[in-house]
Amino acid sequence: MKVNQDQLDKVVHKGIPVSPGIAIGPAYLYAKVTFEVEKRAIDPEIVKTESARFEDAVSKAERDLNKIITVTREKLGENSASIFEAQLLMLRDQAVYPEVVSYIENNCINAGFAVQTVLSKHRRVMESSGNEYLRERANDLLDIQDRIIRHLRRGRILSAVDENSIVFSENITAADIILFSRRGILGCATDFGGPTSHVSIMARALHVPAIVSTHGVTDHVKTGDFVVLDGIKGEIIVNPSDAVLAHYRTKQERYLRLVQEDKSLVPLKAETLDGHRISLQANLELREELPQLIEYGAEGIGLYRTEMSLLLEGRALVTEEEQFSQYQEVVSKTAPWTTTFRILDLGGDKMLPMGHREQNPYLGWRGIRILLDKLELLVPQLRAMLRASAFGKVRILLPMVTSIHEVRRFKEILEQTKQNLTREGVGFATEIPVGVMVEVPSVALAAEQFAKETDFFSIGTNDLTQYVLAVDRGNDLVADLYDELHPAVLQLIKMTTDAAKAAGIPVSLCGELATNLRAVPVLIGLGIDTLSASPIYLPGIKRVIRAMKMSEGRELASKALIASDPREFRAELERWLDEHSCGVSFFLDSTPTE
Ligand code: PEP
Ligand code: MG
Repeated sequence: MKVNQDQLDKVVHKGIPVSPGIAIGPAYLYAKVTFEVEKRAIDPEIVKTESARFEDAVSKAERDLNKIITVTREKLGENSASIFEAQLLMLRDQAVYPEVVSYIENNCINAGFAVQTVLSKHRRVMESSGNEYLRERANDLLDIQDRIIRHLRRGRILSAVDENSIVFSENITAADIILFSRRGILGCATDFGGPTSHVSIMARALHVPAIVSTHGVTDHVKTGDFVVLDGIKGEIIVNPSDAVLAHYRTKQERYLRLVQEDKSLVPLKAETLDGHRISLQANLELREELPQLIEYGAEGIGLYRTEMSLLLEGRALVTEEEQFSQYQEVVSKTAPWTTTFRILDLGGDKMLPMGHREQNPYLGWRGIRILLDKLELLVPQLRAMLRASAFGKVRILLPMVTSIHEVRRFKEILEQTKQNLTREGVGFATEIPVGVMVEVPSVALAAEQFAKETDFFSIGTNDLTQYVLAVDRGNDLVADLYDELHPAVLQLIKMTTDAAKAAGIPVSLCGELATNLRAVPVLIGLGIDTLSASPIYLPGIKRVIRAMKMSEGRELASKALIASDPREFRAELERWLDEHSCGVSFFLDSTPTE
């Protein structure tokens, strides 16, 4: 029986799926109580007692966080706990703690008001950067502010929700989700947040289906409503009909079965039926995600984005030493597989450390353009990466390259940096391949020339699509036009793979297109030999590869390159998946059937 799509559309709320799975159960609306503290004058005689009260609240907040760290360690291991260790450090941050104490003592003001004023000021700076990563750190600061103020009021910290419920909230913190998971929550959805937020990363690690950026789903859900949360498609259905519910129960069972089957795929190779071997690698951006390499069977890191971990808490860029310690851990834990570090891709939608604003940032000062202008950013990062290369295999990837001169200039700086390290007697690997992101059409169009001077290509379809189709990748208004399977995008991929093959260099694809299961046979058919994606998606991709023949991929690819009606071609790809790929088609957006 088919569920009527209209009937579904009426009740569906959409968001960004960040942790796959289907949750079915009662909703729990979690409203975080944020305290507004009134300003109160304190007698100068007892102002020292007031700052002692602040110190006491900070110590209690430390105790809370230590508890959360212990739970996180038990559930998720050391790496995940480091998120809260960072919060613990923020409690006594040199830019914040002494400022609160002076605020209390200089103004003879109550501690709660001082905390609220000082922390809000720091938070506003982070939020106004307009950058997703910093907004997330701003959330951490709000969490800390609430924690201290509650202790000042002797309030209990309530991260309690109903057991076995699906939690809805405007925003939750990484600490909340850890504590909720102890109550066995089934899923969670938030009005705000992005896929790379700590909450999203935690939800994936905890296997809690989750959706973020729902644009106000909390206005439409009440505690006790019966809901379905589809963390695969990013949809929430409130009080579904029996028919819709039955459909999702089936989908849930199929998903759980697939997850079980996926476990058996982890040790197997990603190989087509006719013996073509494909390498599946991971896109990572935090060391907390490293355990997922083994969990999902990744053969190394195809893309390590360095923006997130480098830009900490809105303060200045971290030092070479801090970067080295992080990269060394990543490289050592990824060995014997290779780590592909991408040098900073600032600009575009990612923040600029120098507070610079642009009219048209995607076409502006971004990626390698910034780094070649600001060697004080590039050189410490390169030194840290080179030093880390002594602990395992490292490749360096250049973002937003448009012209060969940028590659040549980068290589000169790399050479100079190597010479300096040698002079200082610091060890690094002799072989460090340098590759370019193929994410601007000019590189794909001139791929033959680039292939002569680079060691590998990595195709970034997220940007390549926006640049070739002139569609902003983050703009809802034109989202319908953002088509990664557009023949023009595929032509550029083909030009890149052809040039790579002719020059004998490897070519991988690390954009989100790799996770679109419809596209997988086409991409393999176009000559891609490595796919890199968020680790959780790798078993599904492997399932498709193991069900196809190279000849089929080539045939689908040649049709895709000239497909005049994308919708019709998509349907053909879905039919192919249905016939070949052992039950993955329910990941796709086709009309649900029971
Ligand atoms: C891409 O552009 O496809 C890519 C992988 O890089 P990012 O999403 O970080 O821009
Ligand atoms: Mg990109």
